[in-house]
Formats: sequence, structure tokens, C-alpha cells
Amino acid sequence: MISVFESFFEIQKEIHELLFSWIPFSVGDILYIFFGIFLSYFIIKCFKKKSRNESLLKILIFLNIFYFTYQIFWGMLYFQKPIISKLPDTKITLEKRKNLAIKYLEKCKQTRLLVKEDENGVFVISELKIIQKEILHQQTWLPNFISAKKGNKISSFKPSMFKNVMSFTGILGYYNPFSAEAQYNSDLPSSYLPFTLAHESSHQLGFAREQEANFVGYLIGVNSSNNELRYSTEYFTLKSLLNSIVYEDEKFVEDMIKNYSDGMKRDRNFEKDFNFKHQGLLNDFFGFTNNVFLKSNQQEGSVTYSYFIDLLVHYEK
Ligand SMILES: [Zn+2]
Repeated sequence: MISVFESFFEIQKEIHELLFSWIPFSVGDILYIFFGIFLSYFIIKCFKKKSRNESLLKILIFLNIFYFTYQIFWGMLYFQKPIISKLPDTKITLEKRKNLAIKYLEKCKQTRLLVKEDENGVFVISELKIIQKEILHQQTWLPNFISAKKGNKISSFKPSMFKNVMSFTGILGYYNPFSAEAQYNSDLPSSYLPFTLAHESSHQLGFAREQEANFVGYLIGVNSSNNELRYSTEYFTLKSLLNSIVYEDEKFVEDMIKNYSDGMKRDRNFEKDFNFKHQGLLNDFFGFTNNVFLKSNQQEGSVTYSYFIDLLVHYEK
């Protein structure tokens, strides 16, 4: 049954890409703005007794169509067979995660030497279009036992119109199921950007679950000959590993960060500044007290590592 939706997704995606990918701005964002205006208009009309019933009916019809379309374009993909069932079985130990963290720190250090810096010595990407092309190229080289999906032939990455809101909420990118476009926050530090694109392109490929999109993004970036994409991917992997270790062995994580190369330390500070600047304002406005580092790692129960780490350790076996 799910395979019917997977095939349908391929067709839907191809049609949407043909329709929207050539347009330089995000059609999906325009659509969302239009939805917002439509809903607000009829919600306001609900306050007037005369038009209440009719407006309420219109809102209900709209929400039904919206939800139904979302489900058949995207929601059903959450029922796909999880990637973890395609990987060899192994136990996730702290030891294994530490070894991987050491491995990825070395990789990061090496790759960091090969990328460009701005006048402050912070990693900066030279040409986003080249990275986007490379991501589509790498999609066609994914291991067949993990993804038999057809790679996207057409690039449909769009800078988001809501980038300011995104910076403040910590959202790096999102996939729009109604237009098959991958939106990203163009204000992001360069260290985030290439991996964010790889992640969103994994959604375009048809991986719905967040952590599976991270894992497919990892597969796209980790073997790339594009240094900028590879560095961003290795750095994301390292951060995820350290996030998974910090509750069990804080000292280890501190030592690892001390061992970052000078370039990596500058990138880390730049990311921290970016997050702090936006988080600070958010705190002022709404009184939120959240710690990005902890928040992104919240897990239920005693398991402190994410499904991405789970996939990574299994894959690295
Ligand atoms: Zn995502």
C-alpha cells in the first residue's frame, strides 16, 4: 500500500518541480501567505453573527482539503519502512560514540584546512549553486540498499521569505509538500548551510522523518569531493555525536572542543553568536528560557542519543 504512495510521490514531485523550480522565489511561501490571509479573513468574519455559519463552513472545508492534500503529498511517507531496518544490527555504546566523535573531529580538522575563510577567519562558502548541484549529483550515488529512490534531476532550492522568523525560532530549513520546494534560511552561518540543503534535499527525495533526512543528508555530504559540503556535513555529525555524549561524559566533550582547530573554534563561536543574538531577542520578547544546545537534544526516557546517531552507529559498523 505504501509503495503506491511512494510512486505517487515521484509523479507529484516531478510535476511540481517542472511547474515551480524555475521560478526564483518560493512559490510555496506565497501559497502559505495566501492561506494565512484566507484563513484570517474568514476567522474575522466568524465574529459577526450574520456571516458566522457560512464562514465556519468555509474554514472547515479549507482545512479538510489542506489536510487531505498534505496527507497524500507527504504525510503517508511517514509510514515507509524505517531505514534502521535496512542496516546491520549493533549495540549503541558510549565507547562507540566516542570513537566516532574522535574520527569525525579528525575529518573536520582536515577538511577545514581546504575551505575558504572570510576576513574574520570564519568559514565561508564560495558559491551556493555549486553545492546545490553537487547535492543532486550525490543523490544518485546513495547506497542502493538504503535508497532506491530516483534522484532529483531539477534543483528546487529556494531562500525562504520567512528567514527572519526562522533565525529566531532556530528553524534552518523546511520542505513544502504543496510545491516540492526546499526552503532554507539564507542568513545562516556557512557552517550550517550546505548540510541544511542536503537535509532538505533528502525530504525532496522522499524521506519524511527528520532524523532519516539527517542521515540521508549525511550520506550525501560525507563522501562528496566538494570540501564545503563535506566540512558542513562532518561538522554536523561531530556536533550530533558530542550532543549525544555530553550527558554521560561532559569532560570528554569539553576536551574534544578544546581540541578543535583554530578555524573550527572560530566557526563554533560564529554559530554561537548567531544563535545567541537571535535567542537573546526572543528571550526579551517572549521570556523564553531555552538553551539551544540542550533543547535540540531533548529525548524521552533514558535514551540520550537521537535516531540519527542510532542510524550513524549502525551504518559505521
Ligand atoms: Zn527536515
